[in-house]
Amino acid sequence: MRLEKPLAPGSTIGILGGGQLGRMLALAAGELGFSCHIFAPEADSPAFQVSGAHTVAGYHDFTALEGFAKSVAVVTYEFENVPGDTAAFLESRVALAPGSGALKTAQDRVDEKTFIAGLGIPVAPFAAVNGQPELEAAIALIGRPSVLKTRRFGYDGKGQTKITEKTSAAAAWAEIGKAPAILEGFVSFDKEISVIAARGWDGAIAVYDVPENRHENHILKTSTVPADIAGETSEAARAMARRLIGALDYVGVMGIEMFVSGSNLIVNEIAPRVHNSGHWTQDACVVSQFEQHIRAICGWPLGSTERHSNVVMHNILGGESANWADYGASAHTGVHFYGKAEARRGRKMGHINVLTPRQG
Ligand code: AMP
Repeated sequence: MRLEKPLAPGSTIGILGGGQLGRMLALAAGELGFSCHIFAPEADSPAFQVSGAHTVAGYHDFTALEGFAKSVAVVTYEFENVPGDTAAFLESRVALAPGSGALKTAQDRVDEKTFIAGLGIPVAPFAAVNGQPELEAAIALIGRPSVLKTRRFGYDGKGQTKITEKTSAAAAWAEIGKAPAILEGFVSFDKEISVIAARGWDGAIAVYDVPENRHENHILKTSTVPADIAGETSEAARAMARRLIGALDYVGVMGIEMFVSGSNLIVNEIAPRVHNSGHWTQDACVVSQFEQHIRAICGWPLGSTERHSNVVMHNILGGESANWADYGASAHTGVHFYGKAEARRGRKMGHINVLTPRQG
C-alpha cells in the first residue's frame, strides 16, 4: 500500500530490524514526535532500548507480522535482506517504504546491475554464474582479476572472493559456498565514494554532498566530506543518484556506492536503506539521513540536505569503544554509541563525527 496522507506526530512507525540503523531511525523519529515499534528476532536488539514497543519474532512468523502491521501506520526496514514474502505480506496490509519492488531489485546483484546498466549508468562488466562451468566461461569473457560475489546476502566483503591469475574456478566456486553468483570485472579505482539520496511519496528528491569512503578489512572505517574529487565528478555522481532513485520509484533514503577511476564513475551497489557512509549527516547537516528517511516515509516534505561543516566520520570498531572518554573529551565531535554490550572484533559499536569549519 501507498501512504494515503502525511502522518501526524503521535503516529507509530514500524521498523524491521533492531540494529544501530533501526536505533538511529527510532531516535530521529522520536525527535519528530513519532513512536516506533521495532520487529526483530534478537531479544537484545540495540533499537529496543530507544523505542516504545518491540516484537521479538522471526521474519517468517506471519502471526506476529499480522499484529505488527495492525499496530503501525507505515513500515520501513533497516536492512536489505528482508525476505520477499515478508515484504509482500506487510505491503498488502500497510504502507511499506521503500516498496517491495525496489527492495527486490536491490537484493540481487544481477538484477541490480542489470537495472543500473539499463539506465545507461556505468557498472563493472558482469555475468551471472550458477555453476563451475559457467564460472569458467565467465572468467574467459570478463578476464582476471575479477570478483566473484554471491547474488544475495553479501555484506562487508562477506560472500565474495577475488579471482587472480592463480585462482582456480573450482576454488573460487567453493569459497563462496556454490551459491548463485555474479562475476564482476575488477575495477582499479582511485577512490570509493557514495551518494545518500532521498525520495518522498510525491516524487520529490533530495541528495546530500558526496563522502569519500575508506575501508579496512572490507569494513567502512571513515567517510570524509567533501570527497577530494573534482566538482563535476561529484555533481555527476549526485545526478546518477537522482536518476536511480527516481527510476526505482523509491520512497525513503538510499545509499549508492560508487568507484571513481580518473573522471569516470562506476556504480558498485545500491543499499535500500540509510547507510553507514551517511552517518556524518547527523552532525554536519541541518537534517540527518535518519530524519530525512522518517520525513520521506511519513509523507512529510523532505528537509534540507545543506551541510554546514566539513566532517570526518570514524566508525568505532570492537575494542576501540574503550576509548569513549577520549571521544567524549574531543571538541567539535559528535559521539554516537549503539548500546551494544559485547565489543566483538570488527563489530560496529558506534561512530564519531569530527567537525571542522566548512571549506568547499
Ligand atoms: P560490495 O560488497 O559489493 O560493497 O564490495 C565490498 C568492497 O569490495 C567494495 O567496497 C570494494 O572495495 C571492493 N569491490 C567490490 N567489487 C569490486 C570490483 N568489481 N572491483 C574492485 N573492487 C571491488
